[in-house]
Amino acid sequence: MVSRYDDAVVGAGIIGLAHAYHLARRGRSVIVFERGARATGASIRNFGMLWPIGQPAGPTYRVALRSLELWRVVLAAAGFWHAASGSLHLAYREDEEQVLREFANGAREPDVVCELLGPKEVLERSPAVNPNGLRAGLSSPTEIGVDSREVVAGLPAFLHDTLGVTFAFNHAVTSFDAPRIRAGGSDWSADRLWVCAGDDFQSLFPEAFRTSGLSRCKLQMMRSEPTDTDCRLGPMLAAGLTLRHYRAFERCPSQPALRARVAAENPEFDRYGIHVMAAQNGRSEIVIGDSHEYDDRIEPFDKACIDRLILDYLATFLAVPNLRIAQRWHGTYARHPSEPYLVAHPSAGVTAVTVTGGLGMTLSFGLAERIVDNVLGG
Ligand SMILES: Cc1cc2nc3c(=O)[nH]c(=O)nc-3n(C[C@H](O)[C@H](O)[C@H](O)COP(=O)(O)OP(=O)(O)OC[C@H]3O[C@@H](n4cnc5c(N)ncnc54)[C@H](O)[C@@H]3O)c2cc1C
Repeated sequence: MVSRYDDAVVGAGIIGLAHAYHLARRGRSVIVFERGARATGASIRNFGMLWPIGQPAGPTYRVALRSLELWRVVLAAAGFWHAASGSLHLAYREDEEQVLREFANGAREPDVVCELLGPKEVLERSPAVNPNGLRAGLSSPTEIGVDSREVVAGLPAFLHDTLGVTFAFNHAVTSFDAPRIRAGGSDWSADRLWVCAGDDFQSLFPEAFRTSGLSRCKLQMMRSEPTDTDCRLGPMLAAGLTLRHYRAFERCPSQPALRARVAAENPEFDRYGIHVMAAQNGRSEIVIGDSHEYDDRIEPFDKACIDRLILDYLATFLAVPNLRIAQRWHGTYARHPSEPYLVAHPSAGVTAVTVTGGLGMTLSFGLAERIVDNVLGG
């Protein structure tokens, strides 16, 4: 007999899990299909930074804030480690300090609280910051750190136990002709299909994506061995290179000059799309990244020179003694020239969701809530 569900979700990454959460909370019967024995995509390869400050002010920023409200509920209910540590952007050059000043002074959403700190206050918030040449820091209390590997591995059991969501791992969905689903060589049945397949836009409904402008981006990442117990980063850290990465800083008049200075001083940063961030998890490991290589430049092989550039830059703002790298990996995500996410309805009863850009963890629960409400009414 074919099992019948209201909703079938493709993909047990964070976007699929967030959709399953909202659908099941409506009392619907939900099954999640994941082609792997567990999710191994971008959702377990990221920093675990829930990072509204990277979004420009506007609707997506508000989705990010709503998402963090939902994240807090889920993290508390599921008992996952997290740190409401906020973020700190550090300035070591005059133009970096100027961008931070413009950002702090500029009009933002009324509920954004960020302040410009002097070196002494920065070091009080994070003693691991390198004091040499430090000029200022932009402190925001909003950002939350999670352990993405723990969360993505643990959410299926939480969703099953609390909301009755069914999971079918090792089941790749190969077709959907409502209500018939073909997955893992068997037939299943669901009224609706929610495709949350990450950066795989070739396997299901490729025609919906062909002209969408989607492409891919590869990022190299590292994780340190646990630091000494007395070495705590506190807030998640970023520095000058990040001020040219996130769209939120585009409204700062001094950003183009900062970009030009970085490009002239070290073209390798632009060549490999490098900006450097660091976050410490509950085991005192520091997650470090990243680089950005696009489309035809993506190779299966990682570049040692990228890791070197990242670690050398990290040392300019992080002073952690005996930092030893324990793991290196890369991840990929979907990218779009202008949209932070794409939602398509390629056939009757099908919704396909792709978060484009590096903030899918941040947007996940808020975005899924909005999409489910739009499709089902709410
Ligand atoms: C290195 C890196 C760092 C990042 N850092 C951050 C960060 O700190 N903060 C932040 O907000 N965002 C970050 N991001 C972005 C974020 O990780 C992604 O936007 C998000 O994880 C995308 O989630 P997803 O569920 O769409 O995709 P994925 O996690 O890739 O999950 C898609 C899942 O679908 C499954 N699947 C695909 N096709 C099928 C099929 N036909 N049948 C069954 N299963 C299928 C795949 O196996 C996979 O498990 C980062 C991304 C990377 C790569």
